Amino acid sequence: MTTQQNSWTEMAGRMKFDGRALINGERVSAVSGQTFECNSPVDGRYLAAVARGDAADIDAAVKAARAAFEDRRWAGLSPRSRKQIMVRFADLILAHKDELALTETLDMGKPIRNARATDVNACANTIRWYGEAIDKIYDEIAPTSDSALALITREPVGVVGAIVPWNYPMLMASWKIAPALASGNSVVLKPSEKSPLTALRLAELALEAGIPPGVFNVVPGFGHEAGNALSLHMDVDCIAFTGSTRVGKLIMVNAGQSNLKRAWTELGGKSPNIVCADCPDLDRAVASSIGSIFYNQGESCNAPSRLFVERSIKDAFIERALALMPKYAPADPLADDTVMGALVDRTQLDTVMRYIDAGRKEGAKVLSGGEQARAETGGYYVAPTLFDGVLNDMTIAREEIFGPVLSVLAFDTVEEAIQQANQTIYGLQAGVWTRDINKAHRIARALRAGTVHVNQYDEDDITVPFGGYKQSGNGRDKSLHAIDKYTELKTTWIGLE
Ligand code: NAD
Repeated sequence: MTTQQNSWTEMAGRMKFDGRALINGERVSAVSGQTFECNSPVDGRYLAAVARGDAADIDAAVKAARAAFEDRRWAGLSPRSRKQIMVRFADLILAHKDELALTETLDMGKPIRNARATDVNACANTIRWYGEAIDKIYDEIAPTSDSALALITREPVGVVGAIVPWNYPMLMASWKIAPALASGNSVVLKPSEKSPLTALRLAELALEAGIPPGVFNVVPGFGHEAGNALSLHMDVDCIAFTGSTRVGKLIMVNAGQSNLKRAWTELGGKSPNIVCADCPDLDRAVASSIGSIFYNQGESCNAPSRLFVERSIKDAFIERALALMPKYAPADPLADDTVMGALVDRTQLDTVMRYIDAGRKEGAKVLSGGEQARAETGGYYVAPTLFDGVLNDMTIAREEIFGPVLSVLAFDTVEEAIQQANQTIYGLQAGVWTRDINKAHRIARALRAGTVHVNQYDEDDITVPFGGYKQSGNGRDKSLHAIDKYTELKTTWIGLE
């Protein structure tokens, strides 16, 4: 055990978590008094009793958010003032980096080094970026005739409900709350019941930064209770959802069945990654493809889980991939050199193992992994798994597994690869590797996905939109495009004499 690991372990032992909701600037228990237990997937340890919010708590939070919006305590501030407060919020997140990273790791199992380097930094950066952007966005005057002036202005939609998953709890929350808050809305956030703790801390830090009470509320609870109530609420103007395609459909139904609130969804993926024989550097293609599917234990919506390799280089690709597998062996998430942590819970572990069984039964061949690991710790770990001989209609190539499982499919022609890559209900991301620039553009244009990576799979930045085609959802998180989701466009005609 290293000194650093010792200190993470010691710090983890000392941490105490407050699982109560945060409504109208106050920590409160659920109206029903009910709680649920939050345990760590790292080793099964108990973390906190978390408020089991339901319709009553959601209603209280929405009322607080509405009151804050109506009296303009936040929306009425100048963009510059909102910017200053959001920048302070981002600074506070960084000031609490170790605490937030450790909370995230304990709550959902990812390696501490990733929680620190990626999740906390990216969350703070998102809050800062939208804060800094908001006093630089101008409205428009339409090119109408001289008899009138037409102003096109943006206004906040009002009360935004946000529902987020557990794979990047803080980061997914920030992708919603940052553009929503920057544009002057009030927010009610429902984090996943599997990882509620960092969202609650974020709301405390927001208050400390100066975001007024009632503007940013967090209600933990289960999806079918708190989440359902939020998406059905008659006084929520917009619901921003990240999660599974199955629940995304329910969100759209709930929005339609209630007040026709704007419903934005970021959903699942089964991203294809096409490696052509003329890829510029096979070692780099292998390292990036393997690194991207196994990052975050494979629990990434954009994970390149279907690897299409041109048949002539498949053996060479697989040989190099197998050589890398030991690096991704699951280990203690609190150790600084760990790259593969725990899956979020027992249910997810069982789901992943069921898919691995299905892959075997349908005729694919496990070349590496395929079994549970570190069971003695009381946590939920799966060895990174590589399947060869996968066909595009097998269950493991069709359905999102959300675990460290890679399916390798061979192709002979680019047309065949494109056709199979697009043969999916999803359209979140895709990759292509070739040194031929014309071929790269041709394939990139043909792939039906919100993001296409060429000769890398790892680039990411807050400046680019993120979202999907088809059943991967609608709307876009990140970049200035996200502001569209949280603002209404108003036209004001002014008659001129
Ligand atoms: P999930 O759909 O089960 O849950 C997501 C959230 O929805 C949770 O907060 C949950 O409590 C809530 N929820 C569940 N049932 C609900 C209901 N009936 N009404 C309202 N809310 C409800 O997803 P998950 O397992 O937490 O997350 C994994 C999924 O998220 C994967 O499919 C992944 O691809 C997707 N995801 C997508 C993106 C993206 O940007 N496209 C990013 C991250 C994760």
